[in-house]
Amino acid sequence: MFIPTVPTPDEILDKSFRRAKKAADKVRTSKVPRYQMAKKTEEARIKTACQVTKDTLNNLLDKTPQVEQMHMFYQDYIDVMVGVDELKKSLGALNWAVGIISKIENEYVFKVRRSKSENAANVRRAAFGRIASVMRQIKDELDFLDFVKGKLRNMPTIDFEAFTLVIAGFPNVGKSTLLRQITPAEPKVANYPFTTHGIQIGHFEKRWKKYQIIDTPGLLDRPIRDMNNIELRAMVALEHLADVILYIFDASETSGYPLDAQMRLYEEIKHVFDTPIISVFNKMDLVENNKYLDEYISKLNEPLMISASEGSGVDLIIEELEEFNGGKKGNKD
Ligand code: GDP
Repeated sequence: MFIPTVPTPDEILDKSFRRAKKAADKVRTSKVPRYQMAKKTEEARIKTACQVTKDTLNNLLDKTPQVEQMHMFYQDYIDVMVGVDELKKSLGALNWAVGIISKIENEYVFKVRRSKSENAANVRRAAFGRIASVMRQIKDELDFLDFVKGKLRNMPTIDFEAFTLVIAGFPNVGKSTLLRQITPAEPKVANYPFTTHGIQIGHFEKRWKKYQIIDTPGLLDRPIRDMNNIELRAMVALEHLADVILYIFDASETSGYPLDAQMRLYEEIKHVFDTPIISVFNKMDLVENNKYLDEYISKLNEPLMISASEGSGVDLIIEELEEFNGGKKGNKD
């Protein structure tokens, strides 16, 4: 999400008052009758200061995308990262400030016009005081928007047209190896809450259809019951993206996770996500089919056997995805 540079209240005031002074200088060199000069210059200063302040705030408001018009995934993402309500409240405060500055402008332009020449400067000073006070009142909101800008830098770029596969499974089971096997280019990395290396997004095309593969190291690779509420929300936001979840088992257990624990995580993910799951047994190059492994394989509905590092079986995954994609009705959401 692009948020323009967020100025501080002092920066806004400096700019507004500097421009106001320039506007006054212009009036001074124009052909205004002497007896009107003081009032005209102060009026120009008030008007310009208010205008520049409003323009600066309006620019921030116009260029900040409207969260409620964004895809549900981004709405959840922004909510987890910074809080949608907080963001709306801050933008609301800026809107409020624009309204108040307009009122100040009208009120003080009126006052200066009716004032005596020798009082015009005092009226303008009072107006500037009011503007400064309004800016001080929105300091926290401007600070917050600056924080939002930093937090939402490098948001994931999602292709909502592509058929999307989200990879899950314990650490070291071969998720990133598989992602790299399937996608020709280096995956793109973006910020994602509670991921250790950010969200990794790879793309590939098959029969003119676009596919997107997402790995979230640190998020879909540990027991869900250990997660706090906000971690859960970061995880559940992925449901807006996933057409299919690819759950990877490490058949060899060389990752250090026994198949029993891997099966429990599979069940948890199945329980949380309302998304079809393709289950895959990886690292088959390291194991012979044995009774112990067969027991787990038989619990699942036609799991695929692969070796991600050797690239064997990867075509089976792609075939299965194509089948899912053929039956896909439009986008999720
Ligand atoms: P991730 O943490 O799930 O992304 O796991 P990685 O893709 O980083 O893989 C962890 C380790 O397992 C790496 O050393 C890989 O080379 C290795 N690995 C991944 N897939 C296979 C496989 O099919 N066979 C073998 N023998 N090793 C694999």
